[in-house]
Amino acid sequence: MTSQEIKALTGQYIMNTYGRFDVAIDHGSGATVYDPEGKEYIDFTSGIGVCDLGYGNQAWAQAIGTQAGKLGHTSNLFYTEPPARLAETLCKRTGMRCAFFANGGGEANEGMIKLARKYSFDKHGEGRNVIITLRNSFHGRTITTLKATGQEVFHQYFFPFTEGFRYADANSMDSLQAAAGDDVCAVMVELVQGEGGVLPLEQEYVTALAALCQERDWLLLVDEVQTGVGRTGTLFAFQQYGITPDVISFAKGIAGGLPMSGILANEKCRSVLGPGMHATTFGANPVCAAAGLVVQETLSDEFLKEVGQKGAYLREQIEGLRLPCLGKTRGLGLMIGIEVKDGYQKGEIVGKLIENGLLVLTAGPGLRLLPPLVITRDEMDKGIAIMKNTLS
Ligand SMILES: *Cc1c(COP(=O)(O)O)cnc(C)c1O
Repeated sequence: MTSQEIKALTGQYIMNTYGRFDVAIDHGSGATVYDPEGKEYIDFTSGIGVCDLGYGNQAWAQAIGTQAGKLGHTSNLFYTEPPARLAETLCKRTGMRCAFFANGGGEANEGMIKLARKYSFDKHGEGRNVIITLRNSFHGRTITTLKATGQEVFHQYFFPFTEGFRYADANSMDSLQAAAGDDVCAVMVELVQGEGGVLPLEQEYVTALAALCQERDWLLLVDEVQTGVGRTGTLFAFQQYGITPDVISFAKGIAGGLPMSGILANEKCRSVLGPGMHATTFGANPVCAAAGLVVQETLSDEFLKEVGQKGAYLREQIEGLRLPCLGKTRGLGLMIGIEVKDGYQKGEIVGKLIENGLLVLTAGPGLRLLPPLVITRDEMDKGIAIMKNTLS
């Protein structure tokens, strides 16, 4: 099919819930993708932080093919090897104690929320169920995780929402104290707010937050759906902040492009959810887990160090262009936000970049870059050249 045919068919038969860019994507290699007519795009998006190994990765495709040929799915009422091995790797690399696998980020966060409320119920009894989240956060699109998201624009239309969320300002212990109370059971944060605009939390705040959680026996829940799986230059962002969360959630990049998510819990939270309390049909799918194992094998310590270096290089190069429409960059690793200066429209900038062969995202008031973690110097330079030619 041609791009035009694909767009027309999509418009006719797929529910119109996405503000799509005017591009159809057919195939890719590394951090480069092509439309059906063969037009090339440098990809600074990796889906939305999903395709960490880029496109056309042979080890990944082979692991998927081999596992699909052996066993594509069975229920969680039976044991399979790939998710057990993936859970082992994730625990050994993080110091967490066990995993629960699900399918998407919002769903993983739902599990984390259920675990926090059950932990508190078991230990402190009823009535202690409020979870504090941060303003400007994003935690998902389910009825519960929309309400967990600390942005009013998400609290529309779908009433009634799940109760039991209270919001505090990021980087303010005063605001957190103001939200505290005897009814609180947990705090949930993104260490770098992704959808909110690529805003890293301050180290001092995160340290103080973790200490307060400890003191009040609030579970510290870290939503690593976007920051996890090497994106920020460590396997998970919490490992750079020197904190030990009780539970973290992951999704996006975990299986390099197949739908998979989950949570990791520490020893204290290991047995909170027992048989029959939490489940999902597709969770721990062996094909997705086999893909996840290839991701883990690729993300060696050396590889992760390079992610940090690539991020620093990209930011330096972009700031060095001194483009009239773009300001400072911020972020961690290959999770990069770029300020759009007053008087310029982020949507218009993105549209022009895409027209000229560079895929980028927006987040909050600015641009957001989430390139495949395997992106090469050559591909970064091509992307930067497109920025320069388009926006000078
Ligand atoms: C993308 C995202 C989610 C939602 O993940 P889905 O897979 O779309 O449900 C939740 N939290 C954060 C931080 C995210 O970036």
